[in-house]
Amino acid sequence: MQAATDAASEAFKTWSKSTVLTRQQLMFNLQSLIKRDMNKIAENITLEQGKTLPDAQGDVMRGLQVVEQCCSIPSLMLGETLPNIARDMDTFTYRFPLGVTAGITPFNFPAMIPLWMFPMSLVCGNTMVLKPSERDPGATMMLMELVKEAGFPDGVLNVIHGAHDAVNFICDNDAIKAISFVGSDNAGKYIYERGSKNGKRVQSNMGAKNHGVIMPDANKEACLNALAGAGMGAAGQRCMALSTLVWVGEAKNWIPELIDRCKKLKVGPGNAPDADLGPLISPAAKKRVLDLVQSGVDEGAELLLDGRDITVPGYENGNFVGPTYLHNVKTSMRCYKEEIFGPVLCSLEADSLDEAIAIINSNQYGNGTAVFTTNGATARKFIDEIDVGQIGINAPIPVPLPMFSFTGTRGSFRGDLHFYGKQGVSFYTQLKTVVQLWRHQDATQQTARTSFPI
Ligand code: NAD
Repeated sequence: MQAATDAASEAFKTWSKSTVLTRQQLMFNLQSLIKRDMNKIAENITLEQGKTLPDAQGDVMRGLQVVEQCCSIPSLMLGETLPNIARDMDTFTYRFPLGVTAGITPFNFPAMIPLWMFPMSLVCGNTMVLKPSERDPGATMMLMELVKEAGFPDGVLNVIHGAHDAVNFICDNDAIKAISFVGSDNAGKYIYERGSKNGKRVQSNMGAKNHGVIMPDANKEACLNALAGAGMGAAGQRCMALSTLVWVGEAKNWIPELIDRCKKLKVGPGNAPDADLGPLISPAAKKRVLDLVQSGVDEGAELLLDGRDITVPGYENGNFVGPTYLHNVKTSMRCYKEEIFGPVLCSLEADSLDEAIAIINSNQYGNGTAVFTTNGATARKFIDEIDVGQIGINAPIPVPLPMFSFTGTRGSFRGDLHFYGKQGVSFYTQLKTVVQLWRHQDATQQTARTSFPI
């Protein structure tokens, strides 16, 4: 770990002086290589992580889009200027890289989340030490081969493997100036606190409980398909999974039809062509999901669809859980308060949009939410009054493309500057503001002035 960090420190000396156009060209190279190997990387993700092949392709694609955004770095790095701020005096800002940065990633997006981090850091002129999830580091290693092939110099990007010890090393190492983290609450809060205490810039994306509000005037077919896909896709192992539904008024009459759609989803190995959802990441993850479902039943929720006893032929020991639906969930229940991270929908009823908004705003998380309606005024009220950083209007998983930033809030985020987009550039750069005075030769001041200039 020390050797990796030393290599990053050494490489920073020359990499930070490389021209912005050189870095842009390397990003173009990387972009075409990722496109070339997209299926290879996706197949590896399916094998190692378990998600279905089309979903794994989406995982690579959404990361590739960050690389594509990084190709516009000459515009993104532009500073600001204001000439003649006083007589013969100009002020301008430049963006400079920070130095060695670090990335710590979760298991659920083995390509996309490393790609949220290292392209943006490198293209801004930083070097990086990257620690992928110890549960599925394969996609990161394939991307590293491509970084090398693209022509990035040795030492600019370094991978270390491990779990807690590697994280502590990153949080405590003086050479590392900034940490990007994505993962669970426990790790995120810990890394944010330990890294910040050591004077580092930290951005920490954490857990979520994303609510979908279904209004009675919603387009029923489109809405129910969106809910089944966004709740069960990737076996619920997405930080933007729409895992909690709030049915407003008569909309609740559609619950049986939603359950029919969920029942039809096929559970199987990710590389089976007809699989809609694959296994969970580990036996421990499966046990946790089953425990949370049982806690809901014990606390009085109605189990309208039970996917706990599913067996997938040929994979009898796999970590599969089938689509599961808990209704009449109360906000006091454990299954409501904790992120389940499995193919489990929790559902609640509300009498009005105001009541639905109040429920969501009382939840600790602020990652994403969505409302389904055909009424523009309802949508506008929702945008104004909801205290969540990413909002979908008839769009169940509102993850912004990288010309924007990933703006989760409240319990889902710690830090000031978000991932990718303009905020990503700000996170990975520091400003130098220059005040320059070039007096005309005939205007040289003759006496010393001691008062503050006005
Ligand atoms: P995780 O927290 O277990 O692991 C993430 C990283 O932190 C890994 O690299 C791991 O080695 C390290 N880590 C784990 N526990 C640690 C600890 N106690 N101390 C120090 N380091 C530790 O997360 P995960 O299970 O891999 O990922 C799932 C979680 O990530 C979910 O909560 C999900 O919502 C969240 N997530 C959030 C976003 C987002 O953008 N908000 C995106 C994807 C995933």
